[in-house]
Amino acid sequence: MLVRTLIFCAVQALGAGLGWWWGGVWGVLWAGAAGVWLWFIADLLRSARMLHWLRGEAAGPAPARTGVLGEVAERVQRLLRAREQAAQDSAVRLQDILDALQATPNGVLLLDDRDRIVWCNHNAARHLAIDAQRDMLQFIGNLLRDPDFTAYLAAQDWSHDVVISTRLGDGAGLARLSIQLCAYGEGQKLMLTRDVTAVEQAEAMRRDFVANVSHEIRTPLTVLSGFVETLQTLKLDADEEARYLALMAQQAERMQRVVEGLLALSRLEASPPPGTAEWLPVAGLLGRCEQEARALHALLAQEQTLSFPHWSRPEDAGEVAGVPAELHSALANLVGNAIRYTPAGGRIEVQWNWQPDGSAEFLVRDTGPGIDAEHLPRITERFYRVDRSRSRDTGGTGLGLAIVKHVAQRHGAQLLIDSVAGKGSTFRLVFPAMRLRRPAKS
Ligand code: ADP
Repeated sequence: MLVRTLIFCAVQALGAGLGWWWGGVWGVLWAGAAGVWLWFIADLLRSARMLHWLRGEAAGPAPARTGVLGEVAERVQRLLRAREQAAQDSAVRLQDILDALQATPNGVLLLDDRDRIVWCNHNAARHLAIDAQRDMLQFIGNLLRDPDFTAYLAAQDWSHDVVISTRLGDGAGLARLSIQLCAYGEGQKLMLTRDVTAVEQAEAMRRDFVANVSHEIRTPLTVLSGFVETLQTLKLDADEEARYLALMAQQAERMQRVVEGLLALSRLEASPPPGTAEWLPVAGLLGRCEQEARALHALLAQEQTLSFPHWSRPEDAGEVAGVPAELHSALANLVGNAIRYTPAGGRIEVQWNWQPDGSAEFLVRDTGPGIDAEHLPRITERFYRVDRSRSRDTGGTGLGLAIVKHVAQRHGAQLLIDSVAGKGSTFRLVFPAMRLRRPAKS
């Protein structure tokens, strides 16, 4: 400002000097007045150009770089840059928040004060089978027509969630969905959705499991206590007493088998997956299974006639990595089932087959009663039985295949079941190549 005043004074002095030289006192007055006017008109033009630029009507840099107007332009530009930076920063922050909400495994929707969708993530769109773009600003009650949800939305008490059944988007089928609303701002709502199908199924399985265990233990216990009461109250002769005691021993054994099976399963669940540090010869594993199969067959043959397996063991059975006791129980369970369920006259084959890709399968094929297709999806569930009485008569617990499946999973193996009712079944345990060592051919 000071510089500008000095320049103005210098220009006036120069004008006055020239005016004096040209016309004396009158010359000074004329030159001074002309200088003021020229200065004023030049300022007016600069201000007009500046206003034009500030209004955004002229592109390029500010028309004035110096003087008062230059400083105004500079300050306005600095202010604009700071505003732009702040807007950019908040846009980045908003995008970060939206990305984080997008990444959550839950569904997230933002509703406005009229319960219309303002934003939703992919999971929410999938859970509610809506289209994030198309259904923007739609009333949520129109898109989610569930009476429980409608009542929940209207009740305004969102201290707990509501669970509804719904059909998921992208054809993923029916699901149970937990929905929780949280109010914020001025009437806006955050809506969280969570797929609780698996949680509810696990809870139902847990309830079934407890009921099944109680039933499996209670049944022999009831029989056992009945016999105890009989022995206590009735005078029995020695033969009868011996018969009762044998029946009691049978029930006690049954209970013991169930408890042992449950303990085996819980051990499998609790221990870490086996590594590949311990290798055991497959031939030894198969030999031990065959011996046990013989013993089981002999035991059951006292009461019923059953088939005995044909074993085919290759020379190069090699080695498998895993926990010996677990692998043995899986193979023995499959062979044991084939013996228990295949009546005399049938055929059972037990094989160890190398596959071209380096994997190998333990195969048990029988011509027993087979399993109807409707039972196959549930056959490895604990206590699931197709033929209850045959399972019981042959000392079954309903836990065998559950144990086999667990052992297979822990060893990276697959349990494959092919069965046709009335024709027979084939059970395969396929071990991956990384768990196998095949002896080099000599
Ligand atoms: P269980 O102790 O009752 O045999 P498992 O878990 O081993 O229990 O088997 C579950 C059910 O699968 C059995 O109750 C039986 O109905 C059926 N099953 C298993 N193996 C065979 C088989 N080889 N042939 C026919 N049915 C079988």
